[in-house]
Amino acid sequence: MSNYHLKKMKVCMICGAIFIPNKYHPSQKVCSSFKCRHIRQLLSQKEWREKNPDYFCYKDKKEKDLWAKKRYLYLKKWREKHREYFVQYRETKNKTNRENKI
Ligand SMILES: [Zn+2]
Repeated sequence: MSNYHLKKMKVCMICGAIFIPNKYHPSQKVCSSFKCRHIRQLLSQKEWREKNPDYFCYKDKKEKDLWAKKRYLYLKKWREKHREYFVQYRETKNKTNRENKI
């Protein structure tokens, strides 16, 4: 093994094995085994989520807002469609109230 390789050798942060990082990824922290790369991936996802805790909440909120907007439009439409019913209902109620007062 050349000096070059000896200098480059690193210890895998997952399994502790000694490995030589890919020359295109010198800051590699895990060996090239599938298991270690997979664990490293999971860890970086977790880190990312911890750094961006609002990301998923934000997405949820956007969806909720959209739902509320849809619901609002639906109710508005429904009320317009049944306006006569409401007018009639109000009139009946007022009438009843007046009759009760008398
Ligand atoms: Zn490893």
